[in-house]
Amino acid sequence: MPKRRRTGTIRVMTIEYKGGCACGQVRYQMTSQPMFVHCCHCRDCQRQTGSAFVLNALIETDRVVLLSGELQRFEMPTDSGRPHGIYRCTGCGTALFSEYGGLSVLRFVRVGTLDDPMALEPNVHIYTRSKVSWLQLPNAVPSFEAYYDAKAVWPQASLERRRALFEKEKQS
Ligand SMILES: [Zn+2]
Ligand SMILES: [Zn+2]
Repeated sequence: MPKRRRTGTIRVMTIEYKGGCACGQVRYQMTSQPMFVHCCHCRDCQRQTGSAFVLNALIETDRVVLLSGELQRFEMPTDSGRPHGIYRCTGCGTALFSEYGGLSVLRFVRVGTLDDPMALEPNVHIYTRSKVSWLQLPNAVPSFEAYYDAKAVWPQASLERRRALFEKEKQS
């Protein structure tokens, strides 16, 4: 048997996390991995998407670069009363990002608008109290009836980023 020889070099696949709206005017790129990915089953998300849940990638606002197009912010009513702004393409109205609780340094990027919607999988399921009954959640992913404590669930590196973000918000 000939000895197996390793050939070639190690290729580091870099995922680009680019995305955009339905009409193509808005193009954006996340410049790194998000801190965490929410699958939210709350009634607000169900109504606003017309679907059973929404997938949001939580990332620093300055890591979401708008490559083209224009966004318009819409204020959404919420059950909690905390502000929720949705950024939509001015051409076609596709919802791309959300901002919750007036926290302008944090974006919730709608994973379904990425060119590769499978690039990010949920790290947590939240507000499962209003989850549709036909959907079975995987046991391996933590899930919560309502919201949750990030400190108990997020990886350390993401918590560091989150801390830096809150510092920045305080200074602004
Ligand atoms: Zn558009
Ligand atoms: Zn929600």
